[in-house]
Amino acid sequence: MAAVSVRDVSIAFGSMPVLDRLSIEVAAGEFLVLLGPSGCGKSTLLNAMAGLIDVEDGEIHFGERNVTWEEPKDRGVAMVFQSYALYPRMSVRENLSFGLRMARTQKAEIEARVARAAAMLQIEHLLDRRPSELSGGQRQRVAIGRALVRDADIFLFDEPLSNLDAQLRNELRVEIKRLHQRLADTTMIYVTHDQIEALTLADRVAVMKDRRIQQLAPPAEIYNRPANLFVAGFVGSPR
Ligand code: ADP
Ligand code: MG
Repeated sequence: MAAVSVRDVSIAFGSMPVLDRLSIEVAAGEFLVLLGPSGCGKSTLLNAMAGLIDVEDGEIHFGERNVTWEEPKDRGVAMVFQSYALYPRMSVRENLSFGLRMARTQKAEIEARVARAAAMLQIEHLLDRRPSELSGGQRQRVAIGRALVRDADIFLFDEPLSNLDAQLRNELRVEIKRLHQRLADTTMIYVTHDQIEALTLADRVAVMKDRRIQQLAPPAEIYNRPANLFVAGFVGSPR
């Protein structure tokens, strides 16, 4: 049973089709990367999984649940965006606990989850600061922490490192990989246009272009046996 199953999903904006009967299955505990050039529909696909965009046709299932028409808040996914979107007037601690407070989670449980997320991301010493007092890398750690405290089975990342400089990107990439290893059974779906990120993070990579998945395979296979010239050029091209 796949953790996430996208079945013949089509999405258009106005008259422009963005996804055309796209299907993909993601196994429980898998780290799947959606890789492709800007504008190929990666964010659209991720947002459809999260319920932030309606599908025109097709279905999305999480395990045995058909979530196609479920509200985003009911889907139980945690999402991390490129822009950190932290609440500027709240401390890091408040940013981390906000969603849980809204969901009326018990105070002790909130404290435990915030402490665990802060420890995992090494931001314990930042809990009383405001976002404006953090570096870009620290802000993105908090944004990831906010997803972590939700204890979700499915994590969706949309280019979370694209705003960071190269060194921080490398650091956080390692951190995200480590998180995935520690959170056994957590399914992660990660959008990027960065080939290195895709090849180093993924169990499998889905290379996208022109509304379609061009190839879906483990990194080594994508790299060594690209399915077509586009994949060969895109994955092989120097950055
Ligand atoms: P990616 O994340 O791969 O860069 P997107 O999924 O954001 O691509 O976008 C795919 C295509 O859909 C692009 O051509 C983009 O301009 C278009 N698009 C995305 N969101 C909207 C929207 N809300 N309204 C109209 N067009 C959109
Ligand atoms: Mg995008």
